[in-house]
Amino acid sequence: MRKLLSEVPCTECGGQLRSKYITQEFERGGVKVKLSGISAMVCAKCGEIYFQPGGADKVAEAANSLFELAVVGKQHKHRLAAQICRV
Ligand SMILES: [Zn+2]
Repeated sequence: MRKLLSEVPCTECGGQLRSKYITQEFERGGVKVKLSGISAMVCAKCGEIYFQPGGADKVAEAANSLFELAVVGKQHKHRLAAQICRV
């Protein structure tokens, strides 16, 4: 069974972690991409972000895909955003 992350205190300050939907921005080569609606645990005290197991890798992958899309679509001057929605 998966252990509830909320039972684990923040490793930085020992604060309580809360489940939140966060927004992450990445910048590379003049392109900014934004991912929002990412489920993560956020420390209520210091704001440290903890992703679900493997979540950080998936977020990095998604950001990489958006950067690739920006290059392919020559959308260098634009800001790309991806939002995660449950339907
Ligand atoms: Zn903390």
